[in-house]
Formats: sequence, C-alpha cells, structure tokens
Amino acid sequence: NINPLNVLAIEVGSTADARILPLTSGLADHLFEHDGQITKREIRAITLSALAPRRGELLWDIGAGSGSIGIEWMLAHPSLRAIAIEAEPTRAARIGRNASACGVPGLVVVEGAAPRALAKLDQPDAIFIGGGGSDAGVLSAAIKALPSGGRLVANAVTLEMEALLLAQNTKLGGDLTRIAISRASPVGAMQAWRPAMPVTQWSWVK
Ligand code: SAH
Repeated sequence: NINPLNVLAIEVGSTADARILPLTSGLADHLFEHDGQITKREIRAITLSALAPRRGELLWDIGAGSGSIGIEWMLAHPSLRAIAIEAEPTRAARIGRNASACGVPGLVVVEGAAPRALAKLDQPDAIFIGGGGSDAGVLSAAIKALPSGGRLVANAVTLEMEALLLAQNTKLGGDLTRIAISRASPVGAMQAWRPAMPVTQWSWVK
C-alpha cells in the first residue's frame, strides 16, 4: 500500500547529497552541523514562534552557536534577514557553512562578543539571545537597540541567566515560559524519559 507521493520522496531523498528541508520551523538537529551547543528542535520551534517573523524584518541572533535560529528565521520567508553574532571563532565559521547548506547564504555572521560586537549593526526588528545573555551589558544593549514594537526573546538554562530574565520581567513585563522536553530512549530492553535541561524563556515587546 505505497502512496506514490512517498515513492517520489524516497527517490528524491536518495539522489546524491539531496537534502529535503521541511517548511516548518523546528528542523531536526542533525540537519545542522553542531558541537552540542544548539537550541534543540522543539525549543527552536517554540522560539521561532515567539520571535514571530514578519515580512522584511531583521533579526539579531546573539550567541548564535550553530546559527540554527537565524537560519530558520531566514527560511521562514525570502524577505527576512538575520545577523548571527558569535564569540567563538570555530562556531562562527560553522554558522556560515550551515547557512550555505540550508540555502540561506545571505545570513550575516559577525564573529565577536556581545555587547561590543553589536555596536555598528543595522537596527533589528527582533532579537534572540541564546548565549552571552548573562555577560555584562548584553541584555541592556539588546533592549536599547530595539525600536518601539520590536521583539526580544531570551532563553535561559542557568539559574544566573534565569534570575536576570526574572528581574527584567518584573521591571518591564512580557511573558515568562518554562519549557521542559523529555525524549524517550532505551534503558536496557525498555525505554525511559530523558529530560533535557529546562529552558526559561522571556518574551517581550518593547
Ligand atoms: N542558539 C544556538 C545555541 C547557542 S549556545 C543554536 O541553536 O545553535 C550559546 C552560544 O553563545 C555559544 O556558541 C557561545 O560561544 C556564545 N556566546 C557566549 N557569550 C557570548 C557573547 N557575549 N557574545 C557572542 N556569543 C556568545
């Protein structure tokens, strides 16, 4: 009972180095080259939803890691632009490779540490903070850089970063969300839930 559409997909998928990218946010982690520092698929889908890209907008992806957030932002629509800011040189180089492999070579990669690396960039419509958010001045620089109506989404795994986000939420409002994902994996002949570290997300419109 083979659906002809599935057969077509199998044939396309098996041609040399063909990659089929689904149209939704939350691509499989293995579609990005990474060293473990990547916003996991389910968290990434929720994060892109919170970032809520609109036609023609520019995103700053601060602490871009593998670049997955900026890449999925650009994949959402051809009019979207993104700047990935990453302090670690090997990761910054990897972001460029991932962007090309995913079909968005226009992603701009800035190798450097926020907040200093943010100084001369075009004004963003939305900012994601996936790393470096607890470094002095990063959150306040991001808040300052946004125009009125601009969106900020910041993900925290550490208590220290979470405390900063709680403080901003108390001061400025916005939404705090806790995202806890578990994946089933084998334990001997059976399966059990392996929880990933929970992520606290602060989402705010200036
Ligand atoms: N969202 C990324 C994962 C981010 S991991 C992804 O999906 O791939 C956090 C990253 O922030 C790391 O790569 C780290 O090198 C970077 N980082 C930490 N402090 C930074 C800073 N001050 N400026 C820029 N990047 C920073």
